[in-house]
Amino acid sequence: MRRLPLLLLALACARTNSVRTAPARTSTDLSAADLRLRLYALADDSMMGRAPGDPGNSIATTHIAAEFARFGLEPAGDNGTWFQTLPFYRRSVDRRDTLRIDGYIGKLGSDYAPIPSNARYRPVDNTPTVYAGLASDSSTWIDASKASGKVVIFSVLPLERRTVATRRTNLGPIVSSQRFIGAKAILVAELDAAGPSTAAAYLTGNLVLDTTWRDDPPVTVVSNDFAARLIGIPLGQAMAGRTGRTLHGGMRVGVFPLEHPARNVVGILRGSDASVNGQFVSLTAHNDHVGFDRAPVDHDSLRAFNSVVRPMGADSPNRAATAEEQKRIRTILDSLRAIRPPRPDSIRNGADDDGSGTVALMEIAENLASGPRPRRSILFVSHTAEEFGLLGSRWFTDHPTVNRDSIISEIDMDMIGRGSVRDLPDAGPAYLEVIGMRRLSTEFGDVLEAVNKRQPQPFAFNLAFDAPGHPLQYYCRADHYSYARYGIPSVAISRGEHMDYHQVTDEPQYIDYDALFRVASFVRDAALELATRPRRPRLDKPKQDPRAPCRQ
Ligand SMILES: [Zn+2]
Repeated sequence: MRRLPLLLLALACARTNSVRTAPARTSTDLSAADLRLRLYALADDSMMGRAPGDPGNSIATTHIAAEFARFGLEPAGDNGTWFQTLPFYRRSVDRRDTLRIDGYIGKLGSDYAPIPSNARYRPVDNTPTVYAGLASDSSTWIDASKASGKVVIFSVLPLERRTVATRRTNLGPIVSSQRFIGAKAILVAELDAAGPSTAAAYLTGNLVLDTTWRDDPPVTVVSNDFAARLIGIPLGQAMAGRTGRTLHGGMRVGVFPLEHPARNVVGILRGSDASVNGQFVSLTAHNDHVGFDRAPVDHDSLRAFNSVVRPMGADSPNRAATAEEQKRIRTILDSLRAIRPPRPDSIRNGADDDGSGTVALMEIAENLASGPRPRRSILFVSHTAEEFGLLGSRWFTDHPTVNRDSIISEIDMDMIGRGSVRDLPDAGPAYLEVIGMRRLSTEFGDVLEAVNKRQPQPFAFNLAFDAPGHPLQYYCRADHYSYARYGIPSVAISRGEHMDYHQVTDEPQYIDYDALFRVASFVRDAALELATRPRRPRLDKPKQDPRAPCRQ
């Protein structure tokens, strides 16, 4: 039985080649080899990018729980299980509905895509339509009386007339304007500009905990062709107020139970000293990522482009390459073509984000469970739905399965597998971004620095991203914040962003396993120190209101 979990994962990945599907058994030592072994399985294509609610994330959490059990941890989820299941629903389009115009049946995703917001649905079957004006220019809009009881249609600026700032049509002013509050629905011809991946994201829907609705007209993006079919002429020629054809059918957005549970996985390594083993040092990482795209791209082409134009991946502005940049991209791609053929890729594997933190969490648990127990206990929490707004960690700290005040500190590992100079000009073997370590407890920061100094190859802590008011707001964007808001000394550590951030190219072959091993070793040693030292880190900075919005 103890061998089964890894094999199960391998079986789940049976479609891929042997390197990844027949992993040897891991040892109890913390090792770069085991980290690699685990990451190739966890971030394999067949895990489909581990989006919460999808099979891949469920397989991953089953595997993590099975490993925790194999190591001999105590289950600390809901009701004595390993899992804390989040009461998520998926708010998405009801695929039983279709829109029709006369005899034409609209195609979901290419003709129209309802935005999965919580605007309460208003039936549109047999509803007249009206052209309402240019979305980005309120001076062209029809007035409320012409919109009431109808489906209103907006045109948009063609892409070539947009700037970087207006690259996406801002729908906020239309929605917040009371002028269209009486409309049955709002259609905006933004689908072509938004592109297939946005349409796919709208159709996938959102994971929500709050299933309440608000009384605003729902918004759907449509293609220019579909809008012209409704209005009867190309939008560019239409005058605001022009009556269009009657819409039939529906485009309901509903809330549906998840097909696969989104779960935090929680396990305890019980400490040896009964006087303090009710206190916990929490180690965390997130088990989810953002899933997959409907439209594949060529892996190497995207990587060549991003290496020149978007060095921070999704955190770099998305823009066209200059002529000079195109030359460099061409050179890179030619060198890749010389060694391998094109590879269509649509899976956002999340090897670094946050496969690296998750495998480190498992390796640390396996290693600590095989050695002498520290005095205090270690609480391992694998969060889900970090990518959806820190929802898993917020849920855990709002509904802790251990006494929240007994959590003496928390160390969150997110994207700890890169950080070479190719990824970040000022990075390298000693690079480590450290955020939040002294924001509640000076002593906590002192402990981390002391443990780091004792490492065979100490890291150089980059504290720049921890600066008050920092534009990237990392302090508010990582799971550690869900603990910090409750006054728990917590820190987020990372080896930084790179060109594969939130891209299909975030794959295991680009991970620096030696650096990942050193980060995991540092975290293990810090946990041991915090779990063994005479007292818990003292708080010497003010706690904030856990409900207040985060301000770095
Ligand atoms: Zn992450």
